[in-house]
Amino acid sequence: MTDFSGLNLAQPILRAISDKSYTLPTPIQLKSIPPLLEGHDLLGIAQTGTGKTAAFALPLLHRLAQNPGTVKRGKPRALILVPTRELASQVSDNLRSYGRHLPVCTAVIFGGTNIRPQIRAMSRGVDVLVATPGRLLDLISQGHVQLHVIETFILDEADRMLDMGFLPDVKRIITKLPAKRQTLLFSATMPKSISKLAANLLNNPKRVEITPAASTVEKVQQRVLFVTKEKKRSLLTKLLNDEEIGRVLIFTRTKYGADRVAKHLYRGGILANAIHGNKSQNARQRALKSFCAGKIRALVATDIAARGIDIKDVTHVINFDLPSEPESYVHRIGRTARAGAGGIAISFCDHDERNHLRNIEKTIGLNVPVFTDHPFHDSEIENSKTPGKRKLRSKRVDLQQRNTQRTKRKAKKAA
Ligand code: AMP
Repeated sequence: MTDFSGLNLAQPILRAISDKSYTLPTPIQLKSIPPLLEGHDLLGIAQTGTGKTAAFALPLLHRLAQNPGTVKRGKPRALILVPTRELASQVSDNLRSYGRHLPVCTAVIFGGTNIRPQIRAMSRGVDVLVATPGRLLDLISQGHVQLHVIETFILDEADRMLDMGFLPDVKRIITKLPAKRQTLLFSATMPKSISKLAANLLNNPKRVEITPAASTVEKVQQRVLFVTKEKKRSLLTKLLNDEEIGRVLIFTRTKYGADRVAKHLYRGGILANAIHGNKSQNARQRALKSFCAGKIRALVATDIAARGIDIKDVTHVINFDLPSEPESYVHRIGRTARAGAGGIAISFCDHDERNHLRNIEKTIGLNVPVFTDHPFHDSEIENSKTPGKRKLRSKRVDLQQRNTQRTKRKAKKAA
């Protein structure tokens, strides 16, 4: 396998990579870096955890370093648009560390914090701007940022932008970019609206697809525990008193639920904190920091708050509530299988979540093993009507048969 030195990156970048002790490029880096260095547009289908930030940051820094210009007030040469504040901080931290031996100036702007330091950063001059859409539009309308000299535009986590209702803002930002530029779009999934956006935005792009979903699902040991809504918190405490659970990320459906669960754990002597959209940016970052530093053992999060943030060494993911979208389930459990390591994902399932479980199992193509050896097991929920293993398999066989029949019919017609 090629190491980083075979990728033709500038020496200061290779030094920064070696400072970080990366030895081999990840698949997305191997596939993306060469075409990006040649100036191609890129459509990257990959989620966080695959190394996608370095996949776009390294060639971006290389190109900027090869073609140095004077840093201009409020006129960045590269724009990286991301959906959340956490991802914005993370991407800019990465850029700073990959670019630490280069004279490249990075700034980050996002909402929910004082705008003045961001205005000052813009007026000092910036090469690479990492931004969330709303705050960027504010700064553009106030005349602090102009996008007409952008050479590279990167739209990260496009599907999340869509989920969070940012697509109109993103489209407004795109109208302010110059036509001649390099454009990269990353998305974990490709719903129709994103492929339409990609078709309009990208010029003859290279397509790089990294699909960790299936492998992630296989790597993570999953289990489901049937429990009533009322007993979920007691079950959680019981599980966390088991020393084997180290650093645990707990997902709830609502912000209110995240707070309640964190408080419940705290009262039970388990160091925990919650992150969600109602918390100030500072509180979220503090919680994240103490979790990453191992000062708190459990972080309770909603899907949106946990999106894109990179937390290492999560041993367990607990779905306190099952998500209604199977895709979110795959994202959530992937948080415990980072960088090739496998983890454990435990899901609580109450009466109302039986359908969610069924949809998840259909999507991942397997039945999540049921764990009954706990004091709150509810066999009524377990036995409430749902296709059993055999039925699920036979359903898949039916589908396969139907597909084969359809293909045969089509072939017949074509003939
Ligand atoms: P990302 O998908 O960009 O969020 O990256 C996920 C994690 O992988 C981050 O903690 C990166 O620092 C790390 N990472 C990125 N590239 C490499 C690499 N080539 N070798 C080892 N770790 C990496």
